Amino acid sequence: MRIVHLSAEFAPLAKAGGLGEVLVGLSRELTRNSHDVDIIIPKYDFIDLSKVQDLKIEVPNFKCLEFYNAMWQAKAEECNLHLLEARHPAGYFHRGKIYGCEDDTARFIYFSRAALEYLKLKNEPIDILHLHDWHVSLCAPLVKDLFKELKIKAIVLSIHNVEYQGKCAPSDLDLIGFKGTHYLTPDRLQDNNPKFPKTINLLKGGIVYADAVVPVSPSYAKEILTPEYGFTLDPTLQKVQHKIKGILNGIDTTLWDPAKDPYISPQYAIESAIKGKLANRVKFALDQTKRPWVGGITRLVPQKAPELIEETLKTTLELGGCFLLLGSSPIPKIQAHFDQLKEKYKGNNRVFLHYLYDEGMAHQLYAALDLLVVPSYFEPCGLTQLIAMRYGTLPIVRATGGLKDTVFDCEDSKNPIQCRNGFSFVDPTKAALNATLKRAFALFKSDPSTFQSLIRRNMQSDFSWKSPAQEYLKVYRTLCKHHTPKLQMQEPIPRFT
Ligand code: ADP
Repeated sequence: MRIVHLSAEFAPLAKAGGLGEVLVGLSRELTRNSHDVDIIIPKYDFIDLSKVQDLKIEVPNFKCLEFYNAMWQAKAEECNLHLLEARHPAGYFHRGKIYGCEDDTARFIYFSRAALEYLKLKNEPIDILHLHDWHVSLCAPLVKDLFKELKIKAIVLSIHNVEYQGKCAPSDLDLIGFKGTHYLTPDRLQDNNPKFPKTINLLKGGIVYADAVVPVSPSYAKEILTPEYGFTLDPTLQKVQHKIKGILNGIDTTLWDPAKDPYISPQYAIESAIKGKLANRVKFALDQTKRPWVGGITRLVPQKAPELIEETLKTTLELGGCFLLLGSSPIPKIQAHFDQLKEKYKGNNRVFLHYLYDEGMAHQLYAALDLLVVPSYFEPCGLTQLIAMRYGTLPIVRATGGLKDTVFDCEDSKNPIQCRNGFSFVDPTKAALNATLKRAFALFKSDPSTFQSLIRRNMQSDFSWKSPAQEYLKVYRTLCKHHTPKLQMQEPIPRFT
């Protein structure tokens, strides 16, 4: 099949979180399965071009509205990567970062249209145009209404996090030649929040106009149909339930492999995991006596329950463990609070707090920890618990979204023995978290052989993209089967659920 992904991220070149990881993992797996896969992302100024192969300019000059662009082509992580250089005077992708600019919506609206202009120029048949998150959601209505000549059989939208929706004014759509007011209706792109009737919601556009909507885990696919997790898009999602199919993410087992990981030393496999993990602690200037090392690798945003992460720090110290955190916050108040914590625990040789986005350090932490805590209020899929398990680190998670679909408490008799792989709790409270931490510490201290057998079982488990990629292919094939070339639409719309 010929599949074109449009995304804001592609790991590790341009990664802010799980989205970039999905792009590389899914694309690599589909490419290895002999599918013809292209990924288009913006050519950000910070991308380290020495990390790609065969870089060449593919289209030196093409117009989007009155602005010029170029398309670059390269091999990255075995995939065909296309880098869209927007020569827009606003320097949209010369900001040294992926997100966090005031004009983020304008940046990605422009990218959406420019990417479609490139596809129009190429004029090649495409089976699936696969969109990821709000950044490129506008492509769904653009293809259906403005770029009708594109030979695309079907559009898939993956939702990696429904909290981020991309909101703007109708006039922002006018800027790229799309009539904003035409789309400002409840059945199109009008934001569902009645307080903002003049707001365009880009993610909603993707949900309404795509042929299939894929949230990144089966539990999350159900949760977002409710007001608690739908962030006002639940009524829209309910209306299109027939085209929603939750597919659990995998992890890219080439980038995440403790036996070959260039960031860690020593590298280790299942047989050498216990020793290997201990040796990976030496680089951290912490108390090296045998005690549980507990940590988190996370963005510090409300979704991730920063107060429960802080509670983990306190309880871990009380229970005699070491606590390590890698993560920073885009929210100044939260960051300031964690800065104070760092001050408070300065000089404590059982605490390590590192507030940077640091890929290498993340690998080193996964290798050194015994327990990784993910207490999120909601979690579309979550990758850190999967990576942790591959590195022989047991996850402690709140049972929500993809965490619920991947972590099965080792002391819950309802879970078949062979599935038990970590610790989980239901209520997002300090009490529930602390009780779970205590259980994990107790197992570590009083039953090391069970603890170690869980480590081995997890390291043997298959968290790769093999099976999820097949699920995506099923969706792609169903859509293509129902494609009617003349009408350029799905008729009748297939049901996924
Ligand atoms: P989200 O996408 O919501 O941030 P996920 O669990 O899906 O959460 O993915 C997080 C990814 O980002 C993982 O690969 C994790 O290792 C990585 N990550 C999170 N924080 C940091 C950090 N401070 N430094 C390096 N990597 C990080």
